[in-house]
Amino acid sequence: MITDGLPDPATLNPLQLDEVACALCARLLEEIRQDRLIGRVEVGQGFRRRIAELWACAPTCAEAVRR
Ligand SMILES: [Zn+2]
Repeated sequence: MITDGLPDPATLNPLQLDEVACALCARLLEEIRQDRLIGRVEVGQGFRRRIAELWACAPTCAEAVRR
């Protein structure tokens, strides 16, 4: 469920952890989702722990993470 090789969630801002901004460059994501889901990370500690989805903006960062 957790994806390897993603940015450390401790270094990301709340928008990046809320699927609002690109996880790689912090640019706000477009409303029309051409953006790419790059994986999931676990954030928080203890009972506040949750899974956050990380998105990359298209085309800039999404191209960089294409596999
Ligand atoms: Zn980006």
